[in-house]
Amino acid sequence: MTFADIFEQQNWDQVKQSIYAKTGADVERALAKSSRDLEDFKALISPAAMPYLEQMARLSQQLTQKRFGKTLQMYIPLYLSNECQNICTYCGFSLDNPMPRTTLTDEQILEEVKVIKSYGYDHVLLVTGEANKTVGVPYFKNVLQLIRPYFSHISMEVQPLDQHEYEELIPLGLNTVLVYQETYHQEDYKKHHPKGKKSNFQYRFDTPDRLGKADVYKIGLGVLIGLEDWRTDSFFTALHLSYLEKKYWKTKYSISFPRLRPFSGGLPPKVEMNDRELVQLICAYRIFNEEVELSLSTRESQSFRNNVIRLGITSISAGSKTDPGGYASKVNALEQFEISDERTPAEIISMIRTQGYEAVWKDWDNVLS
Ligand code: SF4
Repeated sequence: MTFADIFEQQNWDQVKQSIYAKTGADVERALAKSSRDLEDFKALISPAAMPYLEQMARLSQQLTQKRFGKTLQMYIPLYLSNECQNICTYCGFSLDNPMPRTTLTDEQILEEVKVIKSYGYDHVLLVTGEANKTVGVPYFKNVLQLIRPYFSHISMEVQPLDQHEYEELIPLGLNTVLVYQETYHQEDYKKHHPKGKKSNFQYRFDTPDRLGKADVYKIGLGVLIGLEDWRTDSFFTALHLSYLEKKYWKTKYSISFPRLRPFSGGLPPKVEMNDRELVQLICAYRIFNEEVELSLSTRESQSFRNNVIRLGITSISAGSKTDPGGYASKVNALEQFEISDERTPAEIISMIRTQGYEAVWKDWDNVLS
């Protein structure tokens, strides 16, 4: 049984209807349990859960502190290239966006690494557009070998690859792969990805399975909030997560909550998610799944991040640049999206400490795996 078999048994409209039909009694039942199933998750993300938000936040905080302590893992994205062969309606790197394209050379990457290391980071997230000829497996192999001496944890958010390609990258230092489905609504997926390899819904959808088979350390899941009904999309993400956790039980998992951000020439969100709803979603994930890591990027505002880090989040970025060469500022490239929280890493660390939490730069080492 693959996730495609499970997914085929689901109907988007029926799932959506069942989430919106949940009642206060369903929410209370879910909160009273010691372990929750997917029906409980539906109740926790439903509109009926909104009056229970404070109770959810308290429980989410308590469960997070029990499992993760009062810590926040620090990571930073390193944008290597804005070249992309895909058209995605929501992204500044889309092929149809006329802009200068650039891919960092070894020398430029090391300049970026120098700045990132000066902030204190030990976990880097490598990001590229999807351009197989310029930023394909040979490029990734070279980058991993180049930067491995500087970081104990390397994540990637690049084009989905074949299983054997992941198997070639893992021994070179690749620890974590983020692959967001963007939306599980197949028709809308087609509308937002009209051209390029990413238009193949199935290949992207099967990527976490290929990663699980390749024995990667961690897989990051998520949808782009704003493309479709966020409640229904989040249910499918949770369904995917539950399937993967059972099948590839040695692998760790994280969830991110990217909300559509403005970018040069960009599309406004079809569905708006307000701050209270994002808090609801974060808490719902934590109450549903005590083990999963929950990550929050600088897409979110300063005040929102200040308030939400105590409620279930376990990893956070700071000082991010979304244009290749943005840290050393020697390349003048367009960014993927606008950052909302522009504080420096030092300012974020100070905010974390003020709240009684500890920022963790490194809690895991290759040699221990
Ligand atoms: S979302 Fe990814 S694949 Fe789509 S245009 Fe942006 S960089 Fe390219």
